[in-house]
Amino acid sequence: MDSISKKLMELKDNKIFKLPPISDGPIEAIITLDGKKVINLSSNNYLGLANDENLKKAAHKAIDKYGVGAGAVRTIVGNMDIHEELDQRLANFKKEEAALVFQSGYMCNIGVIQAVTERGDLIISDELNHASIIDGVRLSRAEKRIFKHSDMTALETILKTERENFNTCLIITDGVFSMDGDIAKLPEIVKLAKKYHCLTYVDDAHGSGVLGSHGRGTVDHFNLHGEVDFIIGTLSKAIGVVGGYVSGKKEIREYLLNRGRPQLFSTTIVPAAAAAIIEALNILEKDETRTKKLWDNANYLKALLAQKGFDIGNSETPITPLIIKDEEKTIELSKALLDNGVFVSPIVFPTVPKGTARLRLMPSSMHQKKHLEDAVEIIYETAKNLKIV
Ligand SMILES: *Cc1c(COP(=O)(O)O)cnc(C)c1O
Repeated sequence: MDSISKKLMELKDNKIFKLPPISDGPIEAIITLDGKKVINLSSNNYLGLANDENLKKAAHKAIDKYGVGAGAVRTIVGNMDIHEELDQRLANFKKEEAALVFQSGYMCNIGVIQAVTERGDLIISDELNHASIIDGVRLSRAEKRIFKHSDMTALETILKTERENFNTCLIITDGVFSMDGDIAKLPEIVKLAKKYHCLTYVDDAHGSGVLGSHGRGTVDHFNLHGEVDFIIGTLSKAIGVVGGYVSGKKEIREYLLNRGRPQLFSTTIVPAAAAAIIEALNILEKDETRTKKLWDNANYLKALLAQKGFDIGNSETPITPLIIKDEEKTIELSKALLDNGVFVSPIVFPTVPKGTARLRLMPSSMHQKKHLEDAVEIIYETAKNLKIV
């Protein structure tokens, strides 16, 4: 325990120790955190589905029919018809042959990457890929190379010099990069993958429900259906529930049901979650009102921040970084904002490179214009008081 106490002390000494605030109700535009009402600009509940009445009804109904747990891993007796239905619905939504649900997006990445690569293979990964991809790569026996963020020349250099020394080569990228909000150069990646005979793997956690027609994601946005081998999504962000999935060819689903370790050794999502997700897909497929409102709000928020002279980076999606650069100042600003009625989480090293510390603002379809105006005014005044602007 001494070494843990020492590490804990280090975190506290470096002023980066934190405990999460406690929320006592659903995640909406206004939430109560540690007993205080604040404007919420930090959730991934992009479309407000996490507290939607129809999703709640679907979940209640599923509890009455199936109970609260799946009872076993999917490969034993935990494979309920509602899980099969969900896989099929996800495949339809993504316009792919098949899909397979995992317990979370994180579990999906750590389960799929290790299952589809082996010793003698090569994984090439963007330097800003999500932590769950990094962990997935660590669990694989393949060699790994990292390329400079979205730099296609750097990617091709690796392919040119190293590809021929390996069997299978897997190129992995986030669809939408979660800290900057930029979109992967998917058409170029797919082209390079073809030229050098590689498989492609896109983690579209922040693209699904946000980009493409009806929120079908980054692959749909670029009209690359059938061109990307592994399309990962999460069901915890825009979809508002919990879980992750991989979509692609039927063989991928069948192989992972046999060799994806989280399928074999961890119980799948609860039936109520599956039912709620199916209802979310019903809503997304029916109309685009929520997605349109999300983009409206995102554009409005970005315009308000730009008017105040803030550096908001190069986001192409609703993810809105507000770059402060200095680590301590960023944490100080976030704390002061919570006192002043706005919750935005600070993002500092090691989540982003040193010297690029930022607040990350996440608008949603739930926000009214007035919430965003108030939030920007409070952010500006607070930053002024702290001599950040
Ligand atoms: C959030 C996120 C995940 C993890 O998703 P969960 O379902 O919350 O585990 C994976 N990849 C990316 C890129 C993410 O942004």
